[in-house]
Amino acid sequence: MPFRRSKGLVKWIFENQHKMQSVRRCSSLARYKEMEDSAASEHDVSGPKTRPEITPEISFKHDDLQVRLAAPYQLQTKPDAVELGFGKYFTDHMLKIHYSKHLGGWQKPEITPFENLSLHPAAKALHYAIQLFEGMKAYRGVDDKIRLFRPELNMERMNLAAQRSGLPMFDGQELIRCITRLIQIDQEWVPHSETSTLYVRPTLIGTEPTFGIMEPESALLFVILSPVSAYYQTRGDGAVSIFADPAVVRAFPGGVGNRKVGSNYGPTIEATARAAKLGHQQVLWLFGPDRELTEVGAMNIFMVYINDQGERQLSTPPLNGLILPGVTRRSILELASQWEDLVVKEEVITMDRLEDLNDRGRLLELFGAGTAVVVTPIANVGYLHRNIRVPTTSQPRPVYRRLRDTLLAIQYGHVDHPYAKVIA
Ligand SMILES: *Cc1c(COP(=O)(O)O)cnc(C)c1O
Repeated sequence: MPFRRSKGLVKWIFENQHKMQSVRRCSSLARYKEMEDSAASEHDVSGPKTRPEITPEISFKHDDLQVRLAAPYQLQTKPDAVELGFGKYFTDHMLKIHYSKHLGGWQKPEITPFENLSLHPAAKALHYAIQLFEGMKAYRGVDDKIRLFRPELNMERMNLAAQRSGLPMFDGQELIRCITRLIQIDQEWVPHSETSTLYVRPTLIGTEPTFGIMEPESALLFVILSPVSAYYQTRGDGAVSIFADPAVVRAFPGGVGNRKVGSNYGPTIEATARAAKLGHQQVLWLFGPDRELTEVGAMNIFMVYINDQGERQLSTPPLNGLILPGVTRRSILELASQWEDLVVKEEVITMDRLEDLNDRGRLLELFGAGTAVVVTPIANVGYLHRNIRVPTTSQPRPVYRRLRDTLLAIQYGHVDHPYAKVIA
């Protein structure tokens, strides 16, 4: 019965057309491969001779660093210090270090001209935010030397975030050496100014192109550099207004508020925009029924007040998992604890406490601290339809200014200090 047979054939073709397509594709691919092989047999990827070099140790090594400099026509013109903004311009080179489980782990670090990345659209970083970042700065000192500020603390924090995210860890000293070389190459990009710096952004992303929510088998660590000026555009005294919104949280116990992973930041944008509409520069992140102060924007928060013993006290919330362990925070605690006229404590601060102290005239200062902003005074807190005015900038000799001046003096080489590391 020819009718039935042809119907069967149509069905067979319908169900098996994918195989026929692949036969067609394979044959043309095979032909293409033949042409390639005969043209350049040394490019054969299956031969053991030409496989990328594998570093047997756990970390990549600065000694393996390969440098490919930008051609003169690829060099960017450097913008004036006044128009820098924050993270708008990038330097001429970048650092890249690939990781591939398949190839034995970390590959050789390379410095290349600044360029776009090429990523598979299924790369895990793009779907599940399997990524993390760091923020540090290179400062050009009064002596024209370039310094980093406690970079080993950034490396430690980066490895902790990597561990939490299933990303590969590495030897922080090796990365500091590679970053040092990158900054040396782009050193003319470190602004000749004490109000601007070169912001250093190490980033680690999971690049494995599969949808499974699991440890990526491939990753990319890259470092880009951006000359920056002050983070906030504010009034003369540099004070900001912040908005405490009890309806949103930034972090929670057992979460990743204490790690610099990108997934902490995207979800803050709506709340920050809402605060901006009400005239505030940042969100004061509260947590729990007692409305504990945790952080402000992407800064650690500090309060100066007269304590129950009548002493001047500097306080910041303890590292309880909700707080990013800031390098600036730690440095402030260490520096201020050596000052005779100040009690320094890590303690829980609630909104009730803050308001009560302010009502009694015992709240003296409120400020945020972080690498990007150094120390930023806070003059106003919007909270439940009212404004809490904080007299931060009207103190005779405010702690925030003393801390800011001390940090800047170390960073810009006015004083010699073990926190600052000369790299060029
Ligand atoms: C980066 C960051 C800080 C500041 O940390 P530093 O090491 O001092 O720059 C504070 N809070 C959050 C949420 C941050 O992301």
